[in-house]
Amino acid sequence: MPVSEAYEIVVIGGGIAGCFAAATAADRGADVVQLERKSAEEAGHIACGDAMKSPTDSKKYPGPIDMSAIAADEDVLIDGNIDRIEWWDEELDVKKVLPYDGHSNVVDRYEFGQRLLEQTAACGVDQHFDTVVNGVLQDAQVEGVRAVRDGEAVTYTADLVVDAGGSLSSVMANVDFGSLDAEPETSFEKPNYQQFGSAYREVFHTQAPVPYDNALVGKPLERMGYIWYFPRTATEINVGLGFQMNKDPVTLVDRLRADLEGRPEFDGADLDTVNGGANKLGAALALRRPLDSMVAPGYITVGCNAGTTHPITGKGIRGAAVTGYSAGKHGAAAVRDDEDGFISEADLWAHNYFVYVEHGLGTRTAVKDPYNIAASQVGMENVRAAVALLPEDAIADVVSSEGNSLGVRSAIRLASGVVQNALSLVSDDRLEELDTTKRAVGRTLLDFVRTRRYAEKYERLYGEYPATRDGFFEWRDARDAVDDAFNDELGIPADRRKY
Ligand SMILES: Cc1cc2nc3c(=O)[nH]c(=O)nc-3n(C[C@H](O)[C@H](O)[C@H](O)COP(=O)(O)OP(=O)(O)OC[C@H]3O[C@@H](n4cnc5c(N)ncnc54)[C@H](O)[C@@H]3O)c2cc1C
Repeated sequence: MPVSEAYEIVVIGGGIAGCFAAATAADRGADVVQLERKSAEEAGHIACGDAMKSPTDSKKYPGPIDMSAIAADEDVLIDGNIDRIEWWDEELDVKKVLPYDGHSNVVDRYEFGQRLLEQTAACGVDQHFDTVVNGVLQDAQVEGVRAVRDGEAVTYTADLVVDAGGSLSSVMANVDFGSLDAEPETSFEKPNYQQFGSAYREVFHTQAPVPYDNALVGKPLERMGYIWYFPRTATEINVGLGFQMNKDPVTLVDRLRADLEGRPEFDGADLDTVNGGANKLGAALALRRPLDSMVAPGYITVGCNAGTTHPITGKGIRGAAVTGYSAGKHGAAAVRDDEDGFISEADLWAHNYFVYVEHGLGTRTAVKDPYNIAASQVGMENVRAAVALLPEDAIADVVSSEGNSLGVRSAIRLASGVVQNALSLVSDDRLEELDTTKRAVGRTLLDFVRTRRYAEKYERLYGEYPATRDGFFEWRDARDAVDDAFNDELGIPADRRKY
């Protein structure tokens, strides 16, 4: 007989979303256990570029976790060391530099993760490490999970399961959403692996300071991929790369090596270590908009699994914190107010509404996604050529939201004006060097100007995300109609659409 333990809320995952969810729910009086497959020593060691902005802004990192206390810990490296973004397209001889505000950091992700776990425990959460969740208990609702803890089978029963297991969570994969009690069907949107990317990173100590110690450096790679050089300090650099999973797979480690070999500042560099092991890790990350609905009976998902990473840059720490906080807050309220022993989707709806409307991170993330779709459609080579040819402010003009609220005719006039204006800055010599034409660049720019009109439509729609579950299916139909119109306008065939 497996050991059985009962809690009000089971949180799976000791990452950012799991810590924010568990700490918030416990702080609000719920009886919470947090399950993490890694050991207490290894937990918090997570594949990440480690870039985070404004860590002590309580709107971005809400809840009982004291981010100022974490920022004060020197080992975490929250030191505002980043004030610019650099875009290197070395093949095209391009380097663009954009200012980035002074609250940006490249942190030591392991130390950060450990501090989060400590604070979560201090909020009254029971933490079970070395505990791998490998099954789900469900009937009309999700009722708990099966796990192996230190080699022993354990079941955890709960009123609510918060799945903070990260991208493409194996826990979500075990839930049979179709058989849960939700009429006319579950609102939960199960993501598709092609909407995710795979990424890998290593952390190096260089012998001498790098010249880009206060920059987030990005470089384009083939097949909609990118590589980054993110300095934690002038001599401690997080280097990584990622690709979308809708393209042919790439051998990430070899591709990273190839890029490092061309960089003299990495001659003689040593790999960092964590707990005596090399600091190199890979993982999947969501490159999609947040899930239409993140709740099912007795179940909420958060963080990367819920699609709250930025679909272009891959930033996800903040999305994990906000959705984790929301699940903790609204999950604890649903458990406390439950009278019939059944936690329905309607009971958990406040989580979706908070993420999309009250906080708004979900909407801000969702409206970036059309640009990702447009870049995929026009092709990386055309995006690179446009970036190479245009000054920074002309690029900003193309994707800015100004004029989006105009009628269709005025908007088309404005669009062609913006494109003409941008093209007038392009020299024939440079076009020849880049082996492209004004026509090809103009087409790319026009697609982006069109995209910004759709981004505004999406923004309006997500701003009207329903406050209760009753309006959800109608809302989703309206959003799907915008998806169709957008894909049609960009000429994306039905079998290549993202959603
Ligand atoms: C290579 C890479 C680079 C990135 N760079 C950045 C960046 O620079 N800035 C940024 O903001 N975001 C970045 N992201 C995204 C960011 O790291 C994620 O969005 C964020 O970590 C998501 O947090 P999470 O809590 O949802 O999941 P995770 O951090 O993945 O945490 C999930 C936790 O659940 C545990 N777990 C999983 N399954 C089980 C199970 N079955 N049983 C028990 N425990 C389980 C895992 O061990 C892990 O501790 C990057 C992601 C990757 C992969």
